[in-house]
Amino acid sequence: PQTLDFIRNSIRDIPNWPEPGVMFRDISTMLQNPQAFRAVVDIFVDRYKGIGIDVVAGLDARGFIFGPIVAYELGIGFVPIRKKGKLPYTTVSKSYTLEYGDVSTVEMHIDAVKKSDKVVVIDDLIATGGTMLAACSLITDLGAKVHECAVVSDLLYLKGSDLIKERGFEVFSILEYK
Ligand code: 5GP
Repeated sequence: PQTLDFIRNSIRDIPNWPEPGVMFRDISTMLQNPQAFRAVVDIFVDRYKGIGIDVVAGLDARGFIFGPIVAYELGIGFVPIRKKGKLPYTTVSKSYTLEYGDVSTVEMHIDAVKKSDKVVVIDDLIATGGTMLAACSLITDLGAKVHECAVVSDLLYLKGSDLIKERGFEVFSILEYK
């Protein structure tokens, strides 16, 4: 609990960014704090070590900060799930609707996961859950299994993690914002 408070206090709240009415949880201050950054990585690594995870998938862009460190520590591979148009090889893609009606697309290489791989999907935060859910369906479309979605922060008031769980995926968050 002390550690969780320490991590929470290392994250900066920015009101009205990127638009009015949004409280943005800015992890850059946490990343600048070596003890907080390490505490976050250690929680993920402790949770997923020794249980047969095959791949860590990270979401563009803040999942690229945590995912590779966790994969490295677990001794397994890392897979980037990217925004449209960034990956050079053949991709699978999934579009989803953002909070205010815009559409976004995430992509993954078709050979990024193998059938029956156990995958942990990492990002910094779940808001409406659309990004994480799209990522999970890419992984299951390729026949792999999502062991769990892992984030630093879950914005409970947007009900994104409820949606993800309704679709049958597990969610783990270090911090919850009510
Ligand atoms: P969702 O698809 O769940 O609505 O949005 C989650 C995605 O948007 C994540 O990839 C996350 O990085 C980004 N995001 C949305 N709101 C915030 C926020 O308040 N703080 C941070 N750090 N990222 C956010």
